[in-house]
Amino acid sequence: MNKVCAIFGGSRGIGRAVAQLMAQKGYRLAIVARNLEVAKAAAGELRGNHLAFSCDVAKEHDVQNTFEEIEKHLGQVNFLVNAAGINRDSLLIRTKTEDMVSQLHTNLLGSMLTCKAAMRTMIQQQGGSIVNVGSITGLKGNSGQSAYSASKGGLVGFSRALAKEVAKKKIRVNVVAPGFVHTDMTKDLKEEHLKNSIPLGRFGETIEVAHAILFLLESPYITGHVLVVDGGLQLVM
Ligand code: NDP
Repeated sequence: MNKVCAIFGGSRGIGRAVAQLMAQKGYRLAIVARNLEVAKAAAGELRGNHLAFSCDVAKEHDVQNTFEEIEKHLGQVNFLVNAAGINRDSLLIRTKTEDMVSQLHTNLLGSMLTCKAAMRTMIQQQGGSIVNVGSITGLKGNSGQSAYSASKGGLVGFSRALAKEVAKKKIRVNVVAPGFVHTDMTKDLKEEHLKNSIPLGRFGETIEVAHAILFLLESPYITGHVLVVDGGLQLVM
């Protein structure tokens, strides 16, 4: 096994757990994030030879350069995971326009840009698999997260449209939509209070989401699917 997977947001949280799982299975990985030192540390702790790259997914030239560098050093990208994301939670009336823009740019436009950059190679090699990390908020909406929910809802529409566009080229595009997961993004939330609203009674772990991502990456007959990994939260939202 020497397939190449680019993991945007692979330095921390959910993306890092995906990297740990895929390294164990023998994939060659590009760990991509803005902070190169943290990405290098994450790549360095993995079994095998993996490389770290610095990139802001919201910047098209950064994304294009990063794909060129990945292909130069690791070879053609077969798999792509978009786990880079940010949240700037606040009620809409208090949300600054710049915070709306940064969430849309990182969470939605960023994934569109990496998918676009991956298309050339994947079309050339007549195959590829992409998993975009959405959120249960993109399906159900969440008070205090309107811009974030918009970015994640947009990601579902984008992923399904792209799945239709490239299915004939044997390229698959799927979404994993997590609920609350223990990462830096959720460290300030009051878990004791929130967990009562989750049917399974707890936040998820990054490895639990990573298994769902890897399942979709490797499932040859699934495309355009949204896999919810939320401890049952969507049942009660
Ligand atoms: P973390 O904050 O733990 O990690 C975010 C990762 O994204 C880091 O590697 C970070 O690295 C990278 N990143 C952020 N902005 C950019 C950018 N502009 N360009 C490149 N990389 C970037 O987040 P999670 O692991 O919790 O989240 C992963 C994904 O899962 C996100 O899309 C998030 O919205 C989604 N999600 C998370 C949930 C949760 O409960 N944790 C629930 C539902 C969805 P660096 O800062 O160095 O760039």
